[in-house]
Amino acid sequence: ETVGDMLARVARTWPGQPALIVPPQCVRMDYAGLDAAVDRLAAGLLALGLAPGDRIGIWSLNRAEWVLMQFAAPRAGLILVNINPAYRTHELAFALRHVGCKALVLPRRFKTSDYIGMLRELAPELDTCVPGKLHAAALPELRHVLVMGDGEAVPGTHAFGAIATCGDAAALARMRAVASTLSPHDAVNIQFTSGTTGAPKGATLTHRNIVNNGFFIGEAMRLTEQDKLCIPVPFYHCFGMVLGNLACVTHGACMVIPGEGFDPLVTLQTVQDERCTGLHGVPTMFIAELEHPRFSEFDLSSLRTGIMAGSNCPIEVMKRVVEVMHMSEVTITYGMTETSPASFQTTPDDPLDRRVDSVGRVHPHVEVKIVDAEGRTVPRGVTGELCTRGYSVMQGYWEEPARTAEAIDAEGWMHTGDLATIDAEGYCRIVGRVKDMLIRGGENIYPREVEEFLYTHPAIADVQVFGVPDAKFGEEACAWIRLADGATCDADQIRAYCQGRIAHYKIPRYIRFVDSFPMTVTGKVQKFLMRQAMLEEFK
Ligand code: ATP
Ligand code: MG
Repeated sequence: ETVGDMLARVARTWPGQPALIVPPQCVRMDYAGLDAAVDRLAAGLLALGLAPGDRIGIWSLNRAEWVLMQFAAPRAGLILVNINPAYRTHELAFALRHVGCKALVLPRRFKTSDYIGMLRELAPELDTCVPGKLHAAALPELRHVLVMGDGEAVPGTHAFGAIATCGDAAALARMRAVASTLSPHDAVNIQFTSGTTGAPKGATLTHRNIVNNGFFIGEAMRLTEQDKLCIPVPFYHCFGMVLGNLACVTHGACMVIPGEGFDPLVTLQTVQDERCTGLHGVPTMFIAELEHPRFSEFDLSSLRTGIMAGSNCPIEVMKRVVEVMHMSEVTITYGMTETSPASFQTTPDDPLDRRVDSVGRVHPHVEVKIVDAEGRTVPRGVTGELCTRGYSVMQGYWEEPARTAEAIDAEGWMHTGDLATIDAEGYCRIVGRVKDMLIRGGENIYPREVEEFLYTHPAIADVQVFGVPDAKFGEEACAWIRLADGATCDADQIRAYCQGRIAHYKIPRYIRFVDSFPMTVTGKVQKFLMRQAMLEEFK
């Protein structure tokens, strides 16, 4: 089934169920309405002259139009390219050129980000061109620019609203003819990885990849057409668009979008106002909600489920999410952009202790193995690199056969770059990234283990541990610590707390107190930037 056909089927099954609610934009659509809006936008995109296989970029935070694009581009056979809204001109130019985008959808501005202004810097030709006829020296393939939101017409661009309301019968008929030629094996989406370990990579995914993964994610969450899922995680990333939007749509559940950027207060308010049954987030988002001074004012009793994923889910945070946010069925998911993304997930059937300390068992129709540095499969319980295989593995990195071959071997195994163990019952624990593990004087240190221990210190709100080079031991552990509001503590007190509780070599030699960590828009801490900052300090 293609993405477009899947939505059409769901809309026939539950036409009157709520599909999309975006309070800040006053959008409320049921499934019949969403399906019809997607038809009009798909027809409008083809009427511009775009053709199946063309790439169309979307460079935006979470808006209703994003959801329409997520379903309309596939219905028109276009490949949607998710562009990080935190990108600035240099990175935008790279992304657009890298995949040869013929069209780009963007908002006017968000807070201090003037998206139109940034595009104009790259393509000053915009000011004088006829809409649809852009020829910018810096962006040779880009023709069409679609601007979202109300306001004055922007020279050289199309108003998104006009394209999205294409009512031309001939255009609709043409769109249907195109839709009927599409295959589930066609590329539908280029998603960039988070850039946690370096430059983001563009993963090319097919209809089959993401429709099926979205479906199995929704199954593990037990979503039904009665559910309403609050999605504050970014759509440009697989967490928002697959774990959020596709999990909902494959089950007729409702997507509730609290706003463009993440705001813990707005998120809590939205869950309460819309009586959401689910809430997604990376661990740092849940921490921000739980820690918010007004947390206790909100009635979150409608919550039941949600997904925590993206990075280590600290056990203490999971427990509080279950106890004080009422998310008794919260599930942890492990995955990566390259595998559509999910490959492990806990379900409400798993015992609570396994649901907080593991990423659950493998998803249906996904094979896994854990290998050592020589590529040999290790016995159960032994740590090694996790590899996955099956329907969910991407087609490849867009036009990068060499990098694709590094990630996916000849037998189809995706090498995840993550260290994991799988126990006798099939539960998987992510130990850390191959790249993050540090070796101090011959002893392996897994930063996650040290972080979990430090979380037990009452003054510590958040902590990140990573390795820094050391002349004597090869590497030493370094901890960046964010203290809880009002707490005071110094490095010696932290080290004293570690003494006798964890092995001496794991005790961080360097401790820094910070207010925040460098982070990707997906909410992941970028340890490589923290390591760089320490190297600067050592100079
Ligand atoms: P890049 O590949 O660009 O460096 P990234 O790997 O963070 O960035 P994503 O594809 O967004 O990009 O994230 C996938 C990674 O996130 C996984 O490989 C894993 O390291 C981490 N991850 C995802 N879910 C979990 C989880 N539940 N527990 C621990 N780590 C997780
Ligand atoms: Mg990765």
